[in-house]
Amino acid sequence: METITHNLVAVIIQILCFAFLLFPWNIIFTIILAFISHILVDDFSVITYHTPEARKDDKFWLIWHYIIYALSILSTIIFLLPYWLSLLFANVIDLWDWFILRPIQKKRKSKNPESKWGDNYYFHRMVDWSRKKLFFWLPQRTYKRSGIIIEIIIICVLSLILIFLGASIFIP
Ligand SMILES: [Zn+2]
Repeated sequence: METITHNLVAVIIQILCFAFLLFPWNIIFTIILAFISHILVDDFSVITYHTPEARKDDKFWLIWHYIIYALSILSTIIFLLPYWLSLLFANVIDLWDWFILRPIQKKRKSKNPESKWGDNYYFHRMVDWSRKKLFFWLPQRTYKRSGIIIEIIIICVLSLILIFLGASIFIP
């Protein structure tokens, strides 16, 4: 799913862990649950508008991604200081796969197109695995434009939970 969705789930996890657990369990559980949350949230991306490839000629795709990227950056800026721990671990899977592993792999492939290096190091293999084992029953809607409504509803519900929990954008 989009970074904003991962961020909102992460903030909820950190608030709950720090409200109910004592040191060091609050930190340990925030890290573990934030990491797992990325996998679960990504599993559900099949029910939202999530074309596997970028469609830069498609106006609908472009506008939606401008909006969702802006919201993702905004939510990262707002929550980074107080909730950096959960934000980091809820996004480490994307950071590693998209911003570290993929560029390295691209470089290697440009030298040797046959290179299979790195294929097994993708964290998203865990997403694929759990989707096949646990969430195979979810309807496949990745190309349905109406899928953005589902992601918008998810973002709104998560935001309401955050308001209810009294999420602070300031360091507690
Ligand atoms: Zn992901």
